[in-house]
Order: sequence, then C-alpha cells, then structure tokens
Amino acid sequence: MDEVMVVTGGSRGIGAAISRTAASKGYAVCVNYHNRSSEAESLVAEINNNGGRAVACKADVSDFEQVENLFRYTETELGPVTMLVNNAGITGKICRFDEVDPQIMNQVVGINTMGALYCSQAAVKRMSTRHGGNGGVIVTVSSIAARLGSPGEYVWYAASKAAVDAMTIGLAKEVGGEGIRVNAVSPGIIDTEIHASGGEPGRVARIAPMIPSGRAGTAQEIANAVIWLGSEEASYCNGTILDCSGGR
Ligand code: NAP
Repeated sequence: MDEVMVVTGGSRGIGAAISRTAASKGYAVCVNYHNRSSEAESLVAEINNNGGRAVACKADVSDFEQVENLFRYTETELGPVTMLVNNAGITGKICRFDEVDPQIMNQVVGINTMGALYCSQAAVKRMSTRHGGNGGVIVTVSSIAARLGSPGEYVWYAASKAAVDAMTIGLAKEVGGEGIRVNAVSPGIIDTEIHASGGEPGRVARIAPMIPSGRAGTAQEIANAVIWLGSEEASYCNGTILDCSGGR
C-alpha cells in the first residue's frame, strides 16, 4: 500500500523538514499551508524534481470545512491517507497573560488545538478499521511548553499544547484497537521563524545557553523524531509523548 502523509503547516520550518524527510522515505506528501503559497509551491516542486511525490493544499486548519477539503484533496490527488502530522501552529506575540488580546488566544487555540482535533477526527474517520479503513498513524507536534507553562511569554500557547497532549493520550487508547497509533513529539527551542513571528527574533540566541545540550535544536532533528514515530520501527509506541528538547 502507498504511504500517503498529510503534513499541516508542512511548507516552512519544522513542517518543511518533515515533508522533505517523508518524501525521501517514499511517502507521497500533501504539504498543507495557510498563507504563504510560494513557499509551499517551491517545496512541492523541489520534492517532485527529486523524484518524490507531493502536492500543496491551502487550508486553514482551524476551519472544519477546510480540513475536510484538505483530506478530500489529498485522497483525490495521492490516495488514502496513511499518516497525519499535526504540525501547524502559532504562538501569538510574546507577553504576559494579563496583556494578551482574547482574540489572539482564540486564534492560537483555534489553530493549535482545534486544528489538531479536526484533523485527527478527519484522519480517524478514514483510517479506523471501525470505519472500513486500513489503519494509520497520527503524530502531533506538541511543545515542552505544555509542561513548562511558558510564564511571561505565552501561557495560552502552553495551554493549547497541553490540550493536544491530552488528545494524544486519550485518542491512542480509543483507537489503538482500530489499527491507529497516536503519538506526539514535544520540541524545545527550535530555530525557525516562529520566534520572530512571536515578536522576539533573538529568542533562540537568548535561551540557547540555558539548554542542557547547549544549543537550540534544528527542524531536521524534530522531523527525524516525527518520521521515526510514524514508522514501523516505532510499532509499539502508542500514546507516547516524546520530548525532543536537548534535555530542557
Ligand atoms: P513556523 O516556522 O512559523 O511555520 C508555521 C507553519 O504553520 C507554516 O507552514 C504556516 O503556513 C503554518 N500555519 C500557520 N497557521 C496555519 C493555519 N491556520 N492553517 C494551516 N497552516 C498554518 O513554525 P515552526 O517553528 O516550524 O512550528 C511548527 C510546529 O512546531 C508548531 O506546532 C509549533 O507550535 C511547534 N513547536 C515549535 C517550536 C520552535 O521552537 N520552533 C517549539 C515547540 C513546538 P504559512 O506559511 O502559510 O503561514
């Protein structure tokens, strides 16, 4: 059976490393994005030029209908989805909790939490043997913020990631007997644009010296963990939340 992966937010940062690595391992990849079509299209061209198989699909994961369209498009273009990576995420601007705009909190929870819930439900309805599917794997990119709480920076973001950890644990138990494994990777500080988008381009340099491993992680290091959790080598990992944080 062909392996078909949906990577939400698969066009930049950690998601792009996941899309590239998956394609190099033989997955057909649907690279989801929200706004920046040029990044998604050039990544898809790169994968296809290197002998892989990829398509790009614009969808806002916080919108249930757009998530359904994302899965329908992937099935039409690539075939039945065998792996979902819930990677799309934002932090909102760094600030104290008593200063954050409620609309920002709503947007962060909408993308990070509701997006992962909507996509996981769409995946389960297709993969579960209970629904006539052949099984599959869901890996969610969480954050060690779920455990650290991110005081003074983005408590709402940490809360949005703690929710996906709970989803991972519960859903793994619910669908483990229906051919689906559900796991998560929790990155620490990874050098991507997310920190500049959060209003502090120097955040990686500021925090790196405090990380036990002495440096920030790379998008590729997170992609490696995601791809491993999705592979047969991790066949007995279910409900696992794997820290990938340099010991933080
Ligand atoms: P990034 O470089 O800012 O990339 C974010 C990706 O998400 C982009 O592809 C973006 O698409 C997409 N996206 C944003 N909103 C979306 C929406 N509503 N629907 C669909 N896609 C959307 O971020 P990153 O650092 O790679 O982060 C990836 C994941 O890792 C996130 O879940 C993040 O919380 C988590 N994480 C990151 C770190 C870190 O230090 N970097 C640490 C812990 C956890 P467009 O290009 O179209 O905007």
